[in-house]
Amino acid sequence: MTFNELNLIEPILKALETEGYKTPTPIQEQSIPILLKRKDLLGCAQTGTGKTAAFAIPILQILHEEHAERTHKNIKTLILTPTRELAIQIGESFAAYGRNLRIRHTVIFGGVPQGAQVQALNRGVDILIATPGRLLDLMNQGYINIKDISIFVLDEADRMLDMGFIHDVKRVVAKLPQKRQTLFFSATMPPEIQKLSTTLLHNAETVTVTPPATTAELVEQSVYFVDKKDKRQLLTHVLRDPAMKMVLVFTRTKHGADKVVKDLQKVDITAEAIHGNKSQNARQRALSNFKEGRIRVLVATDIAARGIDVDLLSHVINYEIPEVPETYVHRIGRTGRAGASGTALSFCDEEEMQDWRNILKITAQKIPVVEGHPYPMSQSGQITINLPKNKDVVRRPNAVAGSNGGNNNNRRRFSNGGGRAR
Ligand code: AMP
Repeated sequence: MTFNELNLIEPILKALETEGYKTPTPIQEQSIPILLKRKDLLGCAQTGTGKTAAFAIPILQILHEEHAERTHKNIKTLILTPTRELAIQIGESFAAYGRNLRIRHTVIFGGVPQGAQVQALNRGVDILIATPGRLLDLMNQGYINIKDISIFVLDEADRMLDMGFIHDVKRVVAKLPQKRQTLFFSATMPPEIQKLSTTLLHNAETVTVTPPATTAELVEQSVYFVDKKDKRQLLTHVLRDPAMKMVLVFTRTKHGADKVVKDLQKVDITAEAIHGNKSQNARQRALSNFKEGRIRVLVATDIAARGIDVDLLSHVINYEIPEVPETYVHRIGRTGRAGASGTALSFCDEEEMQDWRNILKITAQKIPVVEGHPYPMSQSGQITINLPKNKDVVRRPNAVAGSNGGNNNNRRRFSNGGGRAR
């Protein structure tokens, strides 16, 4: 399948060529024809699958064809997305795929002064990409009217729920016209999201691509069992591997992220943190320093990192194991994007063992344990790990560097969490 077979107009095909896209991803191949037929869509997909283009391309085409005489007066498409980073990335996608069209879009999000956003709105836009809080705020102030919206996209619905935005989303939806095309995207479908989708969609077609549990299979994963106090040294140790060029490190807390950055800077590893306590500018700066290779390590909390789109990301490190197992899948999905290979390392201490088992259950995967590294978990933790198995142990070239010699704790084992449950 090529983009030529998707009935796309020439200016869009040209833009895709400029982007260097050769073939549509599965979600694009399946969703574009449905959306061009003006049908509602339920898309079960996470970032990294090409879902932004799957909705941006047909939206641009529909707006172009329906409104040849552009007035830019009323907003015709609304895209609601949970984070500023996602909003900015979606805006960049519309700019890229719409570069040969006369369709205007703008992006609005909180945490920055509203002046420039209001000015852009006043100039007139066809497509508005927004986070829910700022959208409601500007609607309440009378700067935005959504009564003429004909296409509504709810992006990352499950994340909206996680982040406590679901009521804001419902408030926005209440103001949308009844007659519209609705696109609903979510990586997971918890009951509340399922319910919301049925209230929003009418005769929708469903497209499901690489459900989270299988996305994880594209990424080479391994786990280091380690004492909490040794994680800092273990991180420095694994970063000796020169193959780790662009590394995204996840911590559970903002404070933890700042601490990891400080520890890395002490040993001359370039690192910056991205999390909710940082100003919007500081976050964008850290992200572009990372994307452009000025820093090697970006340390992030889950909410800040969701949707970070870095094409060349080689490694994800779970410095702390997430409590919610789906978060693990989202984290490691930051690497191995658009079919590229990626590597994810997890540092698991004794207290995190139960969380690790839960992850093994939802991914239904066997994740190799790295043996022979210099900071093995002390004996008390090791006895809680199940089923040693020789063949599943990985020995990385750097795993033995600086070995602690006499320590005999590195029994071979396999991390299967004591059973698969799918
Ligand atoms: P998304 O899932 O929308 O976050 O997209 C993930 C990444 O894949 C982005 O960096 C896109 O630029 C890239 N991408 C999307 N569609 C294609 C395609 N058909 N071919 C190559 N790369 C793509």
